[in-house]
Amino acid sequence: MKFNGDFHIHTNYCPHGSADEMELYVHNAIEKGLDAISFTEHAPLPPSFTDPAPKQDSAMKMNDVDSYLLEGNKLKKAYKDKIKINIGFEVDYIKDYETETKQFLNQYGEQIDDAILSVHMLRAPNDQFVCLDYSVEAFSDIITLFGSVNDVYNAYYQTMKSSILSDLGPYKPTRIGHINLVEKFSLQFPATHKHEDELIDLLHLIKQKNYSLDANTAGLFKPFCQQMYPSPKIMEVAHELGIALIPGSDSHTAGTLTRAFDKYPSSISLSTPENVTQKRMSK
Ligand SMILES: [Zn+2]
Ligand SMILES: [Zn+2]
Repeated sequence: MKFNGDFHIHTNYCPHGSADEMELYVHNAIEKGLDAISFTEHAPLPPSFTDPAPKQDSAMKMNDVDSYLLEGNKLKKAYKDKIKINIGFEVDYIKDYETETKQFLNQYGEQIDDAILSVHMLRAPNDQFVCLDYSVEAFSDIITLFGSVNDVYNAYYQTMKSSILSDLGPYKPTRIGHINLVEKFSLQFPATHKHEDELIDLLHLIKQKNYSLDANTAGLFKPFCQQMYPSPKIMEVAHELGIALIPGSDSHTAGTLTRAFDKYPSSISLSTPENVTQKRMSK
Protein backbone atom coordinates (compact mmCIF):
# COMPACT_ATOMS: atom_id res chain seq x y z
CA MET A 1 0.00 0.00 0.00
CA LYS A 2 1.24 3.44 -0.83
CA PHE A 3 1.50 6.12 1.81
CA ASN A 4 3.62 9.13 1.26
CA GLY A 5 2.86 11.33 4.17
CA ASP A 6 2.04 11.61 7.84
CA PHE A 7 -0.61 14.20 8.51
CA HIS A 8 -1.12 14.20 12.27
CA ILE A 9 2.04 15.35 14.01
CA HIS A 10 2.67 17.23 17.25
CA THR A 11 5.75 19.21 18.22
CA ASN A 12 7.66 20.62 21.17
CA TYR A 13 4.96 23.31 21.39
CA CYS A 14 2.72 20.66 22.95
CA PRO A 15 3.08 20.69 26.75
CA HIS A 16 2.34 16.97 27.06
CA GLY A 17 4.64 16.04 24.18
CA SER A 18 8.39 15.68 23.90
CA ALA A 19 11.12 18.28 23.49
CA ASP A 20 11.82 17.12 19.92
CA GLU A 21 12.04 20.16 17.70
CA MET A 22 10.05 20.58 14.54
CA GLU A 23 13.17 20.38 12.38
CA LEU A 24 13.94 16.91 13.74
CA TYR A 25 10.48 15.74 12.61
CA VAL A 26 11.21 17.18 9.18
CA HIS A 27 14.58 15.41 8.99
CA ASN A 28 13.02 12.10 9.97
CA ALA A 29 10.21 12.54 7.48
CA ILE A 30 12.68 13.18 4.67
CA GLU A 31 14.74 10.20 5.76
CA LYS A 32 11.62 8.05 5.55
CA GLY A 33 11.05 9.27 2.03
CA LEU A 34 7.79 11.07 2.78
CA ASP A 35 6.49 13.58 0.25
CA ALA A 36 4.50 15.57 2.79
CA ILE A 37 3.74 16.07 6.47
CA SER A 38 1.27 18.11 8.46
CA PHE A 39 2.13 19.66 11.78
CA THR A 40 -1.14 19.66 13.67
CA GLU A 41 -0.33 21.02 17.09
CA HIS A 42 -3.12 21.19 19.68
CA ALA A 43 -4.57 24.66 19.16
CA PRO A 44 -4.85 26.74 22.33
CA LEU A 45 -8.01 26.02 24.28
CA PRO A 46 -10.64 28.79 24.33
CA PRO A 47 -9.45 31.61 26.61
CA SER A 48 -12.40 31.32 28.99
CA PHE A 49 -12.12 27.52 29.21
CA THR A 50 -10.21 25.95 32.11
CA ASP A 51 -8.22 22.90 31.06
CA PRO A 52 -9.61 20.08 33.20
CA ALA A 53 -6.54 17.86 32.71
CA PRO A 54 -4.68 17.34 36.01
CA LYS A 55 -1.54 19.05 34.68
CA GLN A 56 -3.45 21.53 32.51
CA ASP A 57 -1.23 20.50 29.65
CA SER A 58 -3.76 19.62 26.96
CA ALA A 59 -2.84 22.24 24.39
CA MET A 60 -0.27 24.78 23.31
CA LYS A 61 -0.33 28.20 24.87
CA MET A 62 -1.91 31.12 23.05
CA ASN A 63 1.38 33.02 23.48
CA ASP A 64 3.21 30.35 21.50
CA VAL A 65 1.01 30.38 18.41
CA ASP A 66 2.98 33.02 16.54
CA SER A 67 6.36 31.34 17.14
CA TYR A 68 4.89 27.98 16.16
CA LEU A 69 3.60 29.36 12.88
CA LEU A 70 6.82 31.28 12.26
CA GLU A 71 9.00 28.24 12.87
CA GLY A 72 6.76 26.07 10.72
CA ASN A 73 6.84 28.54 7.87
CA LYS A 74 10.63 28.84 8.05
CA LEU A 75 10.93 25.07 7.76
CA LYS A 76 8.37 24.98 4.99
CA LYS A 77 10.55 27.35 2.93
CA ALA A 78 13.89 25.84 3.88
CA TYR A 79 12.86 22.30 2.90
CA LYS A 80 10.46 23.06 0.08
CA ASP A 81 12.52 21.15 -2.50
CA LYS A 82 12.59 18.05 -0.34
CA ILE A 83 9.19 17.80 1.32
CA LYS A 84 5.86 19.57 1.45
CA ILE A 85 5.20 20.83 4.96
CA ASN A 86 1.69 21.80 6.04
CA ILE A 87 1.29 23.89 9.15
CA GLY A 88 -1.90 23.67 11.09
CA PHE A 89 -3.69 22.62 14.20
CA GLU A 90 -5.61 19.88 15.88
CA VAL A 91 -8.52 21.98 17.08
CA ASP A 92 -10.58 20.94 20.08
CA TYR A 93 -14.31 20.98 19.70
CA ILE A 94 -15.67 21.94 23.12
CA LYS A 95 -19.39 22.13 23.44
CA ASP A 96 -20.66 25.64 24.27
CA TYR A 97 -17.27 27.19 23.46
CA GLU A 98 -17.90 27.35 19.72
CA THR A 99 -17.76 31.14 19.60
CA GLU A 100 -14.25 31.34 20.99
CA THR A 101 -13.09 28.45 18.83
CA LYS A 102 -14.47 30.21 15.79
CA GLN A 103 -12.69 33.42 16.82
CA PHE A 104 -9.39 31.57 16.96
CA LEU A 105 -10.00 29.99 13.57
CA ASN A 106 -11.03 33.30 12.04
CA GLN A 107 -7.88 34.92 13.40
CA TYR A 108 -5.46 32.26 12.19
CA GLY A 109 -7.39 30.56 9.40
CA GLU A 110 -5.49 32.22 6.56
CA GLN A 111 -2.27 30.77 7.93
CA ILE A 112 -3.55 27.22 8.33
CA ASP A 113 -2.66 24.68 5.61
CA ASP A 114 -4.27 21.65 7.20
CA ALA A 115 -6.24 20.95 10.35
CA ILE A 116 -8.05 18.30 12.36
CA LEU A 117 -11.15 18.68 14.52
CA SER A 118 -11.09 16.51 17.65
CA VAL A 119 -13.03 15.94 20.83
CA HIS A 120 -10.98 15.43 23.98
CA MET A 121 -13.22 17.35 26.40
CA LEU A 122 -16.64 16.23 27.58
CA ARG A 123 -19.16 17.98 29.76
CA ALA A 124 -20.24 15.69 32.60
CA PRO A 125 -23.81 15.58 33.93
CA ASN A 126 -22.75 17.85 36.84
CA ASP A 127 -21.61 20.40 34.18
CA GLN A 128 -17.95 19.91 35.01
CA PHE A 129 -15.66 19.32 32.01
CA VAL A 130 -13.38 16.31 31.81
CA CYS A 131 -10.44 15.42 29.60
CA LEU A 132 -11.29 12.07 28.12
CA ASP A 133 -7.90 10.65 27.21
CA TYR A 134 -5.65 11.76 30.04
CA SER A 135 -5.02 8.51 31.92
CA VAL A 136 -6.71 5.27 32.85
CA GLU A 137 -7.05 6.52 36.44
CA ALA A 138 -8.70 9.73 35.31
CA PHE A 139 -10.99 7.72 33.02
CA SER A 140 -12.13 5.69 36.02
CA ASP A 141 -13.15 8.94 37.75
CA ILE A 142 -14.93 10.02 34.56
CA ILE A 143 -17.02 6.84 34.61
CA THR A 144 -18.04 7.59 38.19
CA LEU A 145 -18.97 11.11 37.21
CA PHE A 146 -21.12 9.99 34.27
CA GLY A 147 -22.62 6.95 35.99
CA SER A 148 -21.42 4.18 33.68
CA VAL A 149 -19.03 3.39 30.85
CA ASN A 150 -21.95 3.44 28.42
CA ASP A 151 -22.95 6.90 29.59
CA VAL A 152 -19.43 8.15 28.84
CA TYR A 153 -19.57 6.59 25.37
CA ASN A 154 -23.00 8.07 24.69
CA ALA A 155 -21.86 11.54 25.76
CA TYR A 156 -18.75 11.20 23.63
CA TYR A 157 -20.63 10.19 20.47
CA GLN A 158 -23.21 12.90 21.07
CA THR A 159 -20.38 15.45 21.33
CA MET A 160 -18.74 14.04 18.19
CA LYS A 161 -22.00 14.54 16.36
CA SER A 162 -22.22 18.14 17.59
CA SER A 163 -18.64 18.71 16.47
CA ILE A 164 -19.40 17.60 12.93
CA LEU A 165 -22.57 19.70 12.78
CA SER A 166 -21.08 22.73 14.55
CA ASP A 167 -20.67 26.10 12.93
CA LEU A 168 -17.05 27.09 13.45
CA GLY A 169 -16.94 29.45 10.51
CA PRO A 170 -15.18 29.29 7.16
CA TYR A 171 -11.96 27.88 8.61
CA LYS A 172 -13.53 24.96 10.41
CA PRO A 173 -11.26 21.90 10.05
CA THR A 174 -12.81 19.32 7.75
CA ARG A 175 -10.91 16.27 8.98
CA ILE A 176 -12.37 14.45 11.99
CA GLY A 177 -9.70 13.31 14.47
CA HIS A 178 -9.55 9.88 16.14
CA ILE A 179 -13.29 9.34 15.80
CA ASN A 180 -13.42 6.72 18.59
CA LEU A 181 -10.91 8.16 21.07
CA VAL A 182 -13.36 7.17 23.82
CA GLU A 183 -12.07 3.62 23.33
CA LYS A 184 -8.56 4.52 24.49
CA PHE A 185 -9.05 2.65 27.77
CA SER A 186 -11.58 0.12 26.51
CA LEU A 187 -9.55 -2.97 27.42
CA GLN A 188 -9.68 -1.84 31.05
CA PHE A 189 -13.19 -0.37 30.90
CA PRO A 190 -15.14 -2.08 28.13
CA ALA A 191 -18.54 -0.74 27.13
CA THR A 192 -21.30 -3.33 27.05
CA HIS A 193 -21.76 -2.78 23.34
CA LYS A 194 -19.34 -1.59 20.68
CA HIS A 195 -21.25 1.55 19.72
CA GLU A 196 -20.75 0.64 16.08
CA ASP A 197 -24.12 2.11 15.10
CA GLU A 198 -23.08 5.46 16.53
CA LEU A 199 -19.79 5.29 14.66
CA ILE A 200 -21.50 4.44 11.40
CA ASP A 201 -24.00 7.29 11.90
CA LEU A 202 -21.02 9.62 12.33
CA LEU A 203 -19.48 8.29 9.11
CA HIS A 204 -22.69 9.09 7.24
CA LEU A 205 -22.62 12.63 8.64
CA ILE A 206 -18.96 12.98 7.64
CA LYS A 207 -19.84 11.82 4.17
CA GLN A 208 -22.75 14.27 3.92
CA LYS A 209 -20.47 17.12 4.95
CA ASN A 210 -17.76 15.94 2.58
CA TYR A 211 -15.28 15.82 5.47
CA SER A 212 -12.39 13.39 5.76
CA LEU A 213 -11.24 11.03 8.48
CA ASP A 214 -8.04 10.89 10.51
CA ALA A 215 -6.78 7.31 10.09
CA ASN A 216 -4.84 7.39 13.31
CA THR A 217 -2.42 4.63 14.31
CA ALA A 218 -1.68 5.94 17.83
CA GLY A 219 -4.31 3.76 19.51
CA LEU A 220 -2.33 0.64 18.60
CA PHE A 221 0.32 1.75 21.07
CA LYS A 222 -2.01 2.58 23.94
CA PRO A 223 -1.89 -0.42 26.29
CA PHE A 224 -5.63 -0.34 27.01
CA CYS A 225 -6.65 0.17 23.38
CA GLN A 226 -4.28 -1.69 21.04
CA GLN A 227 -6.30 -0.68 18.02
CA MET A 228 -6.16 2.05 15.46
CA TYR A 229 -8.61 4.95 15.60
CA PRO A 230 -10.94 3.82 14.14
CA SER A 231 -10.70 0.04 13.90
CA PRO A 232 -9.83 -1.49 10.51
CA LYS A 233 -13.46 -2.56 10.17
CA ILE A 234 -14.77 1.00 10.57
CA MET A 235 -12.03 2.27 8.23
CA GLU A 236 -13.37 -0.17 5.65
CA VAL A 237 -16.90 1.15 6.08
CA ALA A 238 -15.60 4.70 5.68
CA HIS A 239 -13.71 3.69 2.58
CA GLU A 240 -16.81 2.06 1.08
CA LEU A 241 -18.75 5.25 1.76
CA GLY A 242 -16.13 7.17 -0.21
CA ILE A 243 -14.74 9.10 2.76
CA ALA A 244 -11.10 10.13 2.36
CA LEU A 245 -8.90 8.49 4.98
CA ILE A 246 -5.84 10.53 5.86
CA PRO A 247 -2.94 8.67 7.52
CA GLY A 248 -1.64 10.08 10.78
CA SER A 249 0.64 8.76 13.50
CA ASP A 250 -0.39 11.40 16.07
CA SER A 251 3.33 11.49 16.91
CA HIS A 252 4.43 13.41 19.94
CA THR A 253 8.06 12.36 19.34
CA ALA A 254 10.07 12.62 16.13
CA GLY A 255 10.96 8.93 16.17
CA THR A 256 7.39 7.68 15.77
CA LEU A 257 6.48 9.20 12.39
CA THR A 258 4.49 6.76 10.21
CA ARG A 259 4.44 4.27 13.06
CA ALA A 260 2.40 1.16 12.14
CA PHE A 261 1.38 2.56 8.75
CA ASP A 262 2.05 -0.95 7.43
CA LYS A 263 -0.87 -2.13 9.60
CA TYR A 264 -3.60 -0.24 7.74
CA PRO A 265 -6.09 -2.68 6.24
CA SER A 266 -5.06 -3.47 2.69
CA SER A 267 -8.65 -3.00 1.49
CA ILE A 268 -8.63 0.78 2.03
CA SER A 269 -6.82 3.48 0.14
CA LEU A 270 -5.27 6.45 1.85
CA SER A 271 -5.49 10.06 0.74
CA THR A 272 -3.49 13.19 1.27
CA PRO A 273 -5.29 16.17 2.77
CA GLU A 274 -6.67 18.63 0.33
CA ASN A 275 -4.85 21.84 0.95
CA VAL A 276 -7.47 23.90 2.75
CA THR A 277 -6.01 27.18 1.56
CA GLN A 278 -6.25 26.03 -2.06
CA LYS A 279 -9.75 24.76 -1.45
CA ARG A 280 -10.84 28.14 -0.14
CA MET A 281 -9.23 29.92 -3.05
CA SER A 282 -11.01 27.75 -5.58
CA LYS A 283 -14.42 28.53 -4.08
ZN1 LIG B 1 -1.36 15.46 22.22
ZN1 LIG C 1 -6.00 14.25 19.73
